[in-house]
Amino acid sequence: MPSSPDVALGPDPLDLEAFRKNGHALIDWIAEYLGDLEKGPVCETVEPGSVRALLPEFAPEQPEPFEAVLADLDRVVVPGLTHWQHPGWFAYFAAGSSPAAILGELAAAGLGVVPMLWSTSPAATEIEAHVLDWLVDLLGVPQDWKTTARGGGVLQSGASLSTHAAMVVAREECRKRSGAGAETMVVYASREAHSSVEKGARVAGFGRIRLLETDEAFAVRPEALSAAIDADRRAGLVPALVCSTVGTTGTNAVDPVRRIGEIARAAGLWHHVDAAYAGSAMICDEFRRHQDGLELVDSYTFNPHKWLATTIGCSVMWVADRRPLIEALTVLPPYLRNAASDSGAVIDYRDWHLSLGRPFRALKLWWVLRCFGAEGLRSMIRSHVTWARWLAERIDHHPRLERIAPTPFALVAFADRRGDQATDALVAKVNSVGRFYLTTSEVHGRRFARIALGNTRTTRAHVDDLWDTIESNA
Ligand code: PLP
Repeated sequence: MPSSPDVALGPDPLDLEAFRKNGHALIDWIAEYLGDLEKGPVCETVEPGSVRALLPEFAPEQPEPFEAVLADLDRVVVPGLTHWQHPGWFAYFAAGSSPAAILGELAAAGLGVVPMLWSTSPAATEIEAHVLDWLVDLLGVPQDWKTTARGGGVLQSGASLSTHAAMVVAREECRKRSGAGAETMVVYASREAHSSVEKGARVAGFGRIRLLETDEAFAVRPEALSAAIDADRRAGLVPALVCSTVGTTGTNAVDPVRRIGEIARAAGLWHHVDAAYAGSAMICDEFRRHQDGLELVDSYTFNPHKWLATTIGCSVMWVADRRPLIEALTVLPPYLRNAASDSGAVIDYRDWHLSLGRPFRALKLWWVLRCFGAEGLRSMIRSHVTWARWLAERIDHHPRLERIAPTPFALVAFADRRGDQATDALVAKVNSVGRFYLTTSEVHGRRFARIALGNTRTTRAHVDDLWDTIESNA
């Protein structure tokens, strides 16, 4: 006898009562996961291929009950994770998160809208524009960057994509001005700039990127920029864009934005700022001196998903003037035409970045701002910076350790005075305890350890514990 269709089909994957029940179970699971995280290690130990080995060879032909799906979070997924939300996470930069952001992400998925045009979800577009205008005030960046003024903000999936988009606009502006082809154009950035700058220049088709010399604090030397521009001009090349970094990935160095902006203006270059991590700190007045000169900037990016309690996939890109961005990225096929766009009275975010389809990213950011309040976020940033400075002081007083760079925000870069091997060995020992995860990098050929604060679940007690562990292994 063939089985009845009901039995063969199993649970209905579209049943809303089951969704309600399973959804509650999932939220319970997430709350427990986050609450229990510090009972386990930051990094699980897995062999390559061991997770795939737990998966069936072929996709399921028949529906499975959600209980089985959820159970595999514990059986397959969690044992193979690196737990970015662990309070002992001090590696790379943190991936922001908070209950408000997680729920905002879930709500956006529940709504399932695609705000590529204003008309395909007016509320999503207007909330995005409004929240990014709020951030202009909250971070003290130029008022011109508001959508109600000349500029405007857009959410992208990451700072890399914001920088890539800036490169494309800069290339088009340079082409219009000089008539040059991209292969003769040159991009400039610090030798400490993030790899996304080099990748963006490559993707945008620029002929060359010059990675500029830095000073003792690893910030770009403005005279190196001027000299490189002059040399390139003499060689018949066309300087097109310079990227300043506020808070480099390695050591959190801050390039002199004002000086670079002055040189860029005088030489007719596009000036982009990458503040992926440190940009969030500008919600506190006392850090804004590090962004002095923003009125000399054409585009800027920072990631609320790094240090503003918002889950991954939330990067702000601002432009001082939105027209070149929209001109560079607008292609209008007949199937996207609509009366609202034709009226010119609305923002169509598809014209502000490379992708067409896009999630409702602003919802989670809006919820984070509302559930923390600016004061809540300032308090988190100030705690992280205070703890980082405390760690910096401990390191400064330790006979075998030394800080290799200033600590303007909440990243402490340090090394073992005995050399690279000792630094690597110290990090390996600290990480082997399981409660922490630090990463290393290199600057001017020297290896160093990074302690990057930014995780919303990290407390002072975790920082104390980290220092005790470093001290007893150094
Ligand atoms: N820029 C800087 C300074 C960074 O530190 C990072 C990542 O750490 C990026 C850009 C890349 O950001 P995303 O991963 O959002 O593309």
